[in-house]
Amino acid sequence: MRKGIIAANWKMNGTHTEVTQFVNALATFAAETPGTKPVEVVFAPPAIYLDLAQANLAQQSSNLATPFSLAAQDASQHDNGAYTGEISMAMLRDMNCQHVILGHSERRQYFAETNAVIYEKITAAFNHGITPILCIGEQDQDNQQGKTTDVLTEQLALAIEKLSENQKQQIIIAYEPVWAIGTGRTPSIDDIEKIHQKIRSIFTQNNDTIARDLRILYGGSVNPDNASAIFKCPNVDGALVGGASLKIDSFKQIIKAY
Ligand code: 13P
Repeated sequence: MRKGIIAANWKMNGTHTEVTQFVNALATFAAETPGTKPVEVVFAPPAIYLDLAQANLAQQSSNLATPFSLAAQDASQHDNGAYTGEISMAMLRDMNCQHVILGHSERRQYFAETNAVIYEKITAAFNHGITPILCIGEQDQDNQQGKTTDVLTEQLALAIEKLSENQKQQIIIAYEPVWAIGTGRTPSIDDIEKIHQKIRSIFTQNNDTIARDLRILYGGSVNPDNASAIFKCPNVDGALVGGASLKIDSFKQIIKAY
C-alpha cells in the first residue's frame, strides 16, 4: 500500500519559535492508531529555518511517533555558482533535507517559472538524492472552459517524456487547482477523485508498476472539516496543506483524518 503524505507548506510564514514548537509538537504526535492508513509527515518551512527544524527533529528522532521529514519550498536548477539569493539541491542534501516542492503555482505566477525550468529543477533534485514534490494545477478560467486535463498534461509532459521508470515511481505529484489555493473553495470530492485518477493514468501511461507506487497529493483549502472526505478518495495519497498547517492543532487533525 502507498504510504500517505501529509505535508505542511508554510510558504513565507513563521518564526524561529513557531518552527521549533511545530517540530516538537509533531515529532511526538502519533498519527497512526490501529486501523488508520500508514502516513508520513513532511514539513516545508521557509528555507532559512530548515536547519533549525532539522536540529529539533534530530533531538526528537529517538521518539518519533510518525515518520517525519523536511522539504524545501523551492531550490535552484543550478548546482553552484554566481546565482545570488539561490539555494542548490546539493545544499539541501547537505542539510539533510529530503524533499523539495517544485513548480508551486506561486512560483509559476510570481517568479515566472516555466515547465522547462521546473523540469531542470526536478533533474537537479534527483541528481542530488532529493525527492521532488511536483505541483500542478489549472487556473479558474481553464477549469471553467473544461481545459483542466490539457493544462495538467502539459505541465506533466517533460517529466513523462524524460524521467526514468524509477524516477517516476519516486516523484510525488501534488494536484493543486490554483483557484482552490487559499480561497476556501475546493473541487467536489467526485471531481478530486476523477482528476487524481486521470493524473495517475496520464503520468504513468498505464504502467502498472509506476501507477501502484506513484503518490498524488491534493492541495488547495484542505482543512480539518474537509480532510477525511478528501482522503477517502482511492487515488488521493495525502495532502499539501498551506494555511491550515500554520496551526498545530488543525494540522494534527488533518493528519489524523488520513
Ligand atoms: P492552502 O491550503 O492555504 O489553500 O494552500 C495550499 C497550498 O498552496 C499548499 O502548497
